Amino acid sequence: MIFRQLFDAASSTYTYLLADANSMEALLIDPVFEQTQRDLSLIRELGLQLKLVVDTHAHADHITAAWLLKQKTGCRIASAAVLNAEHLDLPLHHGDLFGVAGVSLEARATPGHTAGCMSYVLADHSRVFTGDALLIRGCGRSDFQQGSPSTLFHSITEQLFSLPDECEVYPAHDYHGRTRSSIGEERRYNARVGGSANETDFVGYMQAMNLPHPKKMDEAVPANLRSGCPADGRLPPEPDWAEDLLITYAGVPEIGADWLLQHANEVTLLDVRHEGEVIPGELPAPLGAACRIPLDQLRQRLDEIPAGAPVITLCRSGRRSALAATILREQGVERVASLRGGLLPLAHG
Ligand code: FE
Repeated sequence: MIFRQLFDAASSTYTYLLADANSMEALLIDPVFEQTQRDLSLIRELGLQLKLVVDTHAHADHITAAWLLKQKTGCRIASAAVLNAEHLDLPLHHGDLFGVAGVSLEARATPGHTAGCMSYVLADHSRVFTGDALLIRGCGRSDFQQGSPSTLFHSITEQLFSLPDECEVYPAHDYHGRTRSSIGEERRYNARVGGSANETDFVGYMQAMNLPHPKKMDEAVPANLRSGCPADGRLPPEPDWAEDLLITYAGVPEIGADWLLQHANEVTLLDVRHEGEVIPGELPAPLGAACRIPLDQLRQRLDEIPAGAPVITLCRSGRRSALAATILREQGVERVASLRGGLLPLAHG
């Protein structure tokens, strides 16, 4: 199985990518709206097809990317049936088996943090995605969204602690840099429900916490009940100056050689190689002359780049030009992209 744990620093949310190396079908658990570009870039670079997104609950601290990913890929949206979220394709009930070709998950109702929380267990019980029901050495709060500490105690001890000790625990959040745990570890060391804690111990702990409400709660919960669809139902704006502009998983805006050759007269070509690498006549005819500033001098010579037209950075293989594009973006140049693969694809036809 292909497996990635992704992190949103703004909300400390973990998103999980699960895919099968044979079918190349993928699913995402708890994707974050603002990280859609990142997640789609990874899926594209790994050669995967996103078929399904699934949320563990109606989050109060971030907006799900489920709807946006569905618009962009045609994937299906799954979440707990009791949430009755809009745009839902696959309402999940306790005990349901679901997934994509080669990746099978079992849905277990684990309410208590919210009434609609579900955990998702890999069919072989090797991993469980616990949402906010069980966190590493902690658990989600239980003081709003129909939360109940007593219900949460039963969910954790009966639905999660019944899994094998070695089953790896992947939560929806961690605020201290911890990435995973195991059922055995949490059964022993969880600070609220581990060891010999009983329901009275746990409920007493939870009721004494007195936490402030999440900053985004009033916005996030209604949005998540629409599966993350904005209130106006419109897609967020994206750069539209080049139709096949792609942002890589490394975060670099890239454009292909075909696009460049078709739009040669509308862009500024910025060659960031050293003078000694340049071979006269190597650029295909439509590209004409490039503005030349070696990468190590770029920050000092920004004023030599003509203003107005989009800037396409290029080098031999597309690595240095990627840094050049990043530097220009940091300097406020909005329409900039690196030529994917550099001059090599051009030279080889
Ligand atoms: Fe939550």
